[in-house]
Amino acid sequence: MSGKRAGTQTIGCRVTSCRYNSEGSGCSLSKIEVEPSPNCHSGEACDESLCGSYVSRN
Ligand code: SF4
Repeated sequence: MSGKRAGTQTIGCRVTSCRYNSEGSGCSLSKIEVEPSPNCHSGEACDESLCGSYVSRN
């Protein structure tokens, strides 16, 4: 994961199934990695822009 930071960003996230989610609206990590689903190349947002830092609560 890159350590570079462009400006000051805040991560808003509603993925409550992730262990890093905070109160259904934020992320407790200081940075995340956004990445495409492996070998998809579909051009669809649901495939191309996933949170690669996601970890299930379960
Ligand atoms: S790691 Fe990703 S999915 Fe999990 S809370 Fe943070 S931004 Fe959301």
